[in-house]
Amino acid sequence: MLCLGIEGTAHTVGVGVVNESAKVLANAYEMIRPEKGGIHPREAANHHAEHIVPLIRKALDIAGVRAHDIDVVAFSQGPGLGPCLRTVATAARALSLTLDVPIVGVNHCVAHLEIGRAVTECVDPILLYVSGGNTQVIAFSRGRYRVFGETLDIGVGNMLDKFARETGHGFPGGPILERAAKEGKILLPLPYSVKGMDVAFSGLLTAALALHKKGESFENIAFSVQETAFAMLCEVTERAMAHVEKDEVLLGGGVARNRRLQEMVDTMAHDRGARMFVPPGDLCIDNGAMIAWTGLLMHTAGVRVAIEDTVVDQRFRTDEVDVVWRSEKKAARPVT
Ligand code: AMP
Ligand code: MG
Repeated sequence: MLCLGIEGTAHTVGVGVVNESAKVLANAYEMIRPEKGGIHPREAANHHAEHIVPLIRKALDIAGVRAHDIDVVAFSQGPGLGPCLRTVATAARALSLTLDVPIVGVNHCVAHLEIGRAVTECVDPILLYVSGGNTQVIAFSRGRYRVFGETLDIGVGNMLDKFARETGHGFPGGPILERAAKEGKILLPLPYSVKGMDVAFSGLLTAALALHKKGESFENIAFSVQETAFAMLCEVTERAMAHVEKDEVLLGGGVARNRRLQEMVDTMAHDRGARMFVPPGDLCIDNGAMIAWTGLLMHTAGVRVAIEDTVVDQRFRTDEVDVVWRSEKKAARPVT
């Protein structure tokens, strides 16, 4: 069975093709890189509309299959930016109708977790999902992926991007800060905001920008931002692991590519007799393969979605998804 998945919740539009053994046959994507300022939802949607058909062709080409070999079409139904989600949903509907194959809408956050379970050895992990727009600590509990902690304001990636951009260092900020942090020597005091199981990054961003204005070196600030933000993430992840008694931690989202974050989470996991898993970089960032794989899992478990139920949901919560493919029960009443 082959599933083609389309991702397009924010800056990246991606098309992936996977088979029933979770083999990623293709994973093509294009990312909008705004020259100035943040992502404008409509500009990102236009970017996705422009690239989506060539990307579908490219993915089929790379996978070495024809469009008519595809059995299921999946798309990112949310959460994300409305115009981007609608563009991708429209493409997915058109493809599903043209090929006369079922369509499934996938929760983007759940997809990050499922692709990690598929391509690493972890079975039942806590996911530390750290991307541009999202920061969540997610684990499977009583039939659903539940959010045990999350950001109260901006995603950690967004914080890194804003800091780099506002100090004139370009986009995306994460890798720029990672490189600079290696040269940092002094740990400067920055707000450490953990509130219960949640984290907040906007105070840290403001304080980091103030240090920059005062003439502190970019390297020292980058180092301090990473150490502080990643320690916050480790704290809530560890607490969630203890609470739900999981001994695996999976990283997902673009920020999961950061070696220092990986090192800190690995140390935390090791200290408590747990293991850390990191998917390959191309499957950490937003990508079509994770949507395809999760769509395939859903379809195989009996999830059927009518075209009129493919409306996108900008605020699609992780714990709204009935994870039928992980529990014994199948989808209650398949809609065909
Ligand atoms: P995503 O939203 O999951 O596609 O991931 C994009 C985010 O990942 C952006 O905010 C990037 O700055 C961030 N990112 C990418 N590579 C790294 C890295 N090496 N370290 C930290 N953040 C990164
Ligand atoms: Mg993402």
